[in-house]
Amino acid sequence: MNPYLDDDLVALGEQARRFAAQRIAPGFQERDRTRVLDRGLMKEMGTMGFIAPELPEQFGGLGMGCLAAGVIHEEIARADLSMSYINLLASLNGQILQHHGRPDIVKPWLTRLTQGEALLALALTEPRGGSDAANLRLQAERAGDGYILNGEKTSISAADQADAAVVFGRTGTPESGAHGVTALLVPMDLPGITRSRFDCHGQRAVGRGSLFFENVRVPASHRLGEENKGFVQVMQGFDFSRALIGLQVLAVARVALEETWTYVAERQAFGRPLSAFQGVSHPLAGFDTHVEAARLLCLQALWLKDKGAPHGAEAAMCKWWAPKLAYDAVHECLLMFGHGGYDRGAMEQRLRDVLGFQIGDGTAQIMKTIIARARAGRAAVPA
Ligand SMILES: Cc1cc2nc3c(=O)[nH]c(=O)nc-3n(C[C@H](O)[C@H](O)[C@H](O)COP(=O)(O)OP(=O)(O)OC[C@H]3O[C@@H](n4cnc5c(N)ncnc54)[C@H](O)[C@@H]3O)c2cc1C
Repeated sequence: MNPYLDDDLVALGEQARRFAAQRIAPGFQERDRTRVLDRGLMKEMGTMGFIAPELPEQFGGLGMGCLAAGVIHEEIARADLSMSYINLLASLNGQILQHHGRPDIVKPWLTRLTQGEALLALALTEPRGGSDAANLRLQAERAGDGYILNGEKTSISAADQADAAVVFGRTGTPESGAHGVTALLVPMDLPGITRSRFDCHGQRAVGRGSLFFENVRVPASHRLGEENKGFVQVMQGFDFSRALIGLQVLAVARVALEETWTYVAERQAFGRPLSAFQGVSHPLAGFDTHVEAARLLCLQALWLKDKGAPHGAEAAMCKWWAPKLAYDAVHECLLMFGHGGYDRGAMEQRLRDVLGFQIGDGTAQIMKTIIARARAGRAAVPA
């Protein structure tokens, strides 16, 4: 129980937990080996209404709040963080398409997205850097009733598995910065697109890779937002995904802590349970406290979003704090299992899985700059 989740949301979370425990958890480690997101399970998630439930019904959603997306998201992540990318990418891209796309173009994509029939990636990062995102160079040249794309996006989650991507390209001069960027919905089967797959440390079922564009023609009807306004308009969706990422990694820390509490209460050393030693139980109690507090912050950010209140700083707090905390908590849990924790298994996979979010979707330094700007003012905190 907490002030953000009413009985309906608690019941929704319990339903998602039962589904995830029965259908998603059993393949957690196998998918790390095969490196494939299970499309059959994705379809089941869609049928259950678990993908982007916050979208309006006319786009295939359930018209629920962002907190509903959050409680489902953490239950899927608890079973397999990689599979919960389906929720994350659908909620992030779904919001962008809903608010900035042409309804006749985005509606079929949003319907497939919520039904678990399509996976959308988000392509912002380029080889020359991700933190200075507004400085991107992928060329999007206006040609008649379309745009011609040339260049590379890199480190894109689900790059080789996605059916389409929201791609940010430069339509202005290189000096135009954030004010010369246009966002486009790009189906991945367009001629001129090739893709690669990296060998990732964690999150291996979703994976990352590069997208290469060579004279790719995208109809102007697929533009998201106005020309040259892609960065300013579309980037606002990231406040949503940052709170979701917080819940995603904290769910992994929570299940790790639960398993570890059980283990240290049973495992004996020096004639007593491990938990009898304060050197074991106090660090776990500390992480348990911080994970609980960070989860409440993430729920608060989503609650603020549902209320239409500003939540950019809170979302940035979720995004830098939760991944670091989750990594440290799972690390502590792994050590409590002694040599067994070091074997290939659920705990070491969790550690690999959560690490990626200290980088992906913006690093801690960038998040702290966002918080500092919210507090001290943008002029006082230049890039
Ligand atoms: C698991 C994972 C998933 C990802 N998924 C996607 C995706 O789906 N789509 C996508 O577009 N990208 C994705 N990325 C890329 C990610 O967004 C970038 O890696 C990230 O924004 C950082 O960019 P960079 O790697 O180029 O590092 P750089 O920008 O080169 O930064 C390197 C280091 O310098 C620090 N730094 C940079 N500028 C400053 C500054 N002003 N002040 C202080 N420190 C600074 C950074 O914090 C970082 O530690 C993903 C990355 C990972 C690891």
